[in-house]
Amino acid sequence: MDVMKMPADLPDVSLNSNAELVLKKRYQRKGLDGTPIETAKEMFWRVAASIASMEKNYPSSPFKPKDLARTFYSLMTEYDFLPNSPTLMNAGTELGQLAACFVLPVGDSMDEIFDAVKNAALIHKSGGGTGFSFTRLRPKDSRVGSTGGVASGPISFLKIFNTATEQVKQGGTRRGANMGILRVDHPDILEFIRAKEREGDLNNFNLSVALTEKFMQAVENDEEYPLVAPQSQEVIEKLKAREVFELLVRKAWESGDPGIIFIDRINRDNPNPDQGEIESTNPCGEQPLLPYEACNLGSINLARFVREKDEGVEIDWDRLREVVHLSVRFLDNVIDASEYPLDRITETVRKNRKIGLGVMGWADLLYQLGLPYDSRRAIVLAEQMMNFIQKEARSASKELAKERGPFPSYETSIYKEQNLGPYRHATTTTIAPTGTLSIIAGCSSGVEPLFALCFVRQVMDGEKLTEANSFFVKALHDQGCYSEKLMAEVIEKGSVKNMDFLPEELRNVYVTSMDIEPQWHLKMQAAFQKHTDNAVSKTVNLPNSATQEDIYQIYWMAYEEGCKGVTVYRDGCKSVQVLCTGDGN
Ligand code: ADP
Repeated sequence: MDVMKMPADLPDVSLNSNAELVLKKRYQRKGLDGTPIETAKEMFWRVAASIASMEKNYPSSPFKPKDLARTFYSLMTEYDFLPNSPTLMNAGTELGQLAACFVLPVGDSMDEIFDAVKNAALIHKSGGGTGFSFTRLRPKDSRVGSTGGVASGPISFLKIFNTATEQVKQGGTRRGANMGILRVDHPDILEFIRAKEREGDLNNFNLSVALTEKFMQAVENDEEYPLVAPQSQEVIEKLKAREVFELLVRKAWESGDPGIIFIDRINRDNPNPDQGEIESTNPCGEQPLLPYEACNLGSINLARFVREKDEGVEIDWDRLREVVHLSVRFLDNVIDASEYPLDRITETVRKNRKIGLGVMGWADLLYQLGLPYDSRRAIVLAEQMMNFIQKEARSASKELAKERGPFPSYETSIYKEQNLGPYRHATTTTIAPTGTLSIIAGCSSGVEPLFALCFVRQVMDGEKLTEANSFFVKALHDQGCYSEKLMAEVIEKGSVKNMDFLPEELRNVYVTSMDIEPQWHLKMQAAFQKHTDNAVSKTVNLPNSATQEDIYQIYWMAYEEGCKGVTVYRDGCKSVQVLCTGDGN
């Protein structure tokens, strides 16, 4: 692919040492011998130029590709906004697959199952993550008509997907990530809930149980609910809803898996119900999609939107608006620039044009504003912030619809009836975990609190690097509290909550995820969810001492507060933490 020539006067990019490492190892293009053939600057230019060049498809665009390429370049290199990893890795390259999130259907036949395995392998190779529902598969031990044998059921097929993933190192970049979903009324649900109880099993999968509204009501009323054979819709048996819910809670307490998603709620927000039901999300849970649909994400770094005023600091809403509009244009162009491993995916994506703009650096923003994460004021600001971003993203989507036309399935979407559109995108907002993006931008990830204020990071050759949150260090200096001795103590404890010798306000503002009561984690997730079209990636971190009752309460609260799903993680419940880690492994 032709990429516009890099202008001689393009500003250099400054990288923190972790970003330098991650980009070199996984993002900059490599030659046959594995050494990078582009610099980080050339990488950002490749992405900016190839995404901006899509303007040529739209004669009514107010931007010249060359100018927009420069704008996109500074948007990324000033770390105001970054597109998801596959866009950084593959834009302007032959592979050209730019989306992070896919959902594939798994039908109840050998052909369909192994088609899905193959398609997932192709997606993993290109850097994307895949989600599947296994609900359509007939239960274990049911009859197989053509052979007279018995079916092995969803869990044994899940293992095949898991092994296939293990063997496909993604296009030399990262190993695949998957989401496996089973509806709570599938006859094999108990086996599914227990599927990850042995550490290391299904290590390339996050699992979530799709809870229905009917099931939640049965839990509330302490009733039985039916397990239904997916093909015949015959009721196979009945289970006590509370016992299943308690088993879910117990397994999540033991290992963090499975999580839960509220599938009816997700489908209430399905913008295109005429195209079928949403049955799964992407691997980290933030993006519900139709079968064969993909979505590209991008995240605005909120840490960058604070400006000085006469006394103190404030949020720079005007600049945020501008960045939201540019980011939506960027993500719209990503749809046009992206190539997918299957025609069916290309068709579905081009029809619905879903994008997922979200945020990172939220905890860093709160630090700068002096607001404790676990405070009412922070929750109120979260709602205001996401409301603003969603409103502006939708307005940008409308402007693009005027310039380029609405998304092709707009006429049959729910927006048509609601008289809200026309939009250019079936969805515009999603809050991603930003595992790698936050390392590149040097900010806190997604809407999560910091894990530790200061810690030692192992780098590749066994060297150790001490990393401290810059806003914390500045606050210590400003308040005359900084010392090497103190920093050593913070590394050891991870938190300053109980350091009584430090000013109280500082201890309240600089909280870490373990200092925060689980309810506040959940309230923050719910606040962002209120104004997010898709879902919010968030882990409710619990101390090792948390009880099953605590998790029960969190699950219930997630249901009542309108979340689309929830994931908990009890400190120390696994010796190695998997999920989507920041180093892209
Ligand atoms: P990044 O920071 O690398 O852009 P995120 O941590 O925000 O990625 O994850 C966003 C989505 O990207 C995930 O939900 C998943 O769909 C996909 N993803 C993340 N990590 C991986 C991985 N190792 N392999 C495949 N897909 C991944």
